Amino acid sequence: MKTAEIRQKFLEFFESKKHTAVDSAPIVVKNDPTLMFTNAGMNQFKDIFLGNEPAANERVVDTQKCLRVSGKHNDLEEVGVDTYHHTMFEMLGNWSFGDYYKKEAIEWAWELLTEVYKIDKSRIYVTVFEGDKDDHLEFDQEAFDVWKNLIAEERIISANKKDNFWEMGDVGPCGPCSEIHVDMRSDSARASSNGRDLVNHDHPEVIEIWNLVFMELQRKSDGKLIPLKSKHIDTGMGLERLAMVLQGKQSTYDTDIFVKLIDRIEKETGKKYGFKSSKSDIAIRVMADHVRAVAFAIADGQMPSNTGAGYVIRRILRRAIRYAYSFLDVREPILYKLAEELIALMGGFFEELNKNSNLIIQVVKEEEESFLKTLARGIDLIEKISFETKGDSISGQVVFELYDTYGFPADLTGLILSEKGKSFDEKEFEAELEKQKNRSRKAANQETGDWIIVNDDQGVTSFVGYDSLQTDLKIMRYRK
Ligand code: ATP
Ligand code: MG
Ligand code: MG
Ligand code: MG
Repeated sequence: MKTAEIRQKFLEFFESKKHTAVDSAPIVVKNDPTLMFTNAGMNQFKDIFLGNEPAANERVVDTQKCLRVSGKHNDLEEVGVDTYHHTMFEMLGNWSFGDYYKKEAIEWAWELLTEVYKIDKSRIYVTVFEGDKDDHLEFDQEAFDVWKNLIAEERIISANKKDNFWEMGDVGPCGPCSEIHVDMRSDSARASSNGRDLVNHDHPEVIEIWNLVFMELQRKSDGKLIPLKSKHIDTGMGLERLAMVLQGKQSTYDTDIFVKLIDRIEKETGKKYGFKSSKSDIAIRVMADHVRAVAFAIADGQMPSNTGAGYVIRRILRRAIRYAYSFLDVREPILYKLAEELIALMGGFFEELNKNSNLIIQVVKEEEESFLKTLARGIDLIEKISFETKGDSISGQVVFELYDTYGFPADLTGLILSEKGKSFDEKEFEAELEKQKNRSRKAANQETGDWIIVNDDQGVTSFVGYDSLQTDLKIMRYRK
């Protein structure tokens, strides 16, 4: 089953259970000081959970574009190194706003996975929240009892707050959850060890696919929990991981969307994918992953820039360029070609990609051209400094200079250094950065806006430029 069909089946299944399908919210968040990017399906419904806003529909289904590169849920360091975390991914979700609760949520999840998608029941494990003393929370007996009617007891695992209590951030709506994991290992591997012991242990093939969150609490800034006015259901299933399971693959990168991107990388670079942990494989995965994050961010109006969310996007892009440069010998822009491929693959469902295709391709290409110019000199300098420095720690001042002069994001320098067993003085770097910020604050009393309008009502893309002083252009297009 192709990814597009898997997504469609999810939406249709919940529509048949009287859910209304809604669009994904933009991947970039602009009106929430606690969040920079959408990191879960629930973000756009936060105010409904908190009781600040009424729900237009009590039951909703959607697929949400998510980006986990900052804040509480930051997966950037894992991406490419492992084979199942992405920066940008799609989170399929069904929602109950004060309507059905644990019983239906669990039973429908089971029905969808085993009857519609026909996942082998003997590969499934589920978890329930074991409770937590500090927060005065009890074992989730209710969820356990529902599961007990569906699945053998030895396949139900109690798990702790880290894995089974979902929180959006330091504050906000939260609640215990119950998760579904699938053991995708070969029969012989399954015969030699129990999948149960590998659940929640970051095994690449005993993989968490779906989180059913029982939203009933709110974390306040003093750390205390208070009950929400109503109880809600918030579920999130990673589409890429579901595709991995349904397509019988060992990694999300072996599924249809990524295979196409990787084919194109192989074609453009002449390098082969398939050595799993080699640097070149990591580089290929990083490129295939990062191009999605960047393309979706640009489509939603977030240009790469030197501040805020724009800088996060620029860093992701530069990270991909550097991997391609160092491990695949790439010397010419290439990611923009991947962006083209991606738009063809995903633009059918996410029309914002199609509508902004020229903009995406143009911006990615320009970013690549400009960073490739300084990359070689920057890398040489890091080599030299690292060679000349006694001990394992490089001064933060030097890392700041690389950032300031060559556009080397500190995390990129950190990554290159870590490959040499070295690190840098982060405090010193932060201090230099702060000094620079103060200098520019004095120089300009206007903040640089990195937020542009990407589409007007006629669907015409107006490229107003990035890194420009456009403080009044803060509005972006929401999908109709
Ligand atoms: P993991 O433990 O694998 O890091 P998580 O517990 O952080 O996942 P949740 O916050 O529970 O993930 O999100 C719900 C679902 O979204 C997960 O069950 C998974 O299928 C998917 N998901 C989460 N993070 C990623 C990611 N970085 N890339 C791809 N899919 C993800
Ligand atoms: Mg995680
Ligand atoms: Mg988890
Ligand atoms: Mg989880």
